Amino acid sequence: MLKKGNKLYSILTGTCPKCHSESMYKVKNPYALGSIFKMQERCSHCGTRYKIEPSFFYGAMYVSYAVGIAFAVAAFVISYLIIGAGLLNTFIAIVGTLVVFLPVIIRLSRNIWINFFIHYDPAADAGSRKLDSAI
Ligand SMILES: [Zn+2]
Repeated sequence: MLKKGNKLYSILTGTCPKCHSESMYKVKNPYALGSIFKMQERCSHCGTRYKIEPSFFYGAMYVSYAVGIAFAVAAFVISYLIIGAGLLNTFIAIVGTLVVFLPVIIRLSRNIWINFFIHYDPAADAGSRKLDSAI
């Protein structure tokens, strides 16, 4: 279902938005909090620079607002409408969800933000495969 060439693949896996071949992050696990913002300078497969311009990823803050709301709504639906918890417990569940998933929200926002600007290029992906087989 989720294949290379689909934007969702790059967004959910955190891979290079152009060739979908390797992770943009130095440490893949978002819960390694010390390195949550550490990204590779360039993609080693297709050479795409991730930081298109200085402070490029500040724009991801706008995306993180929307992603945060999505997580909060999901927590509300699950705790209030499905489990039937009271309003206070629902509020606690929403705050807890936002705190626990903060690293995931940050990474998803960056992935979505960069995918607005850089699109998948099958040639970049194929070129990298040719390079791989040459080595
Ligand atoms: Zn790449």
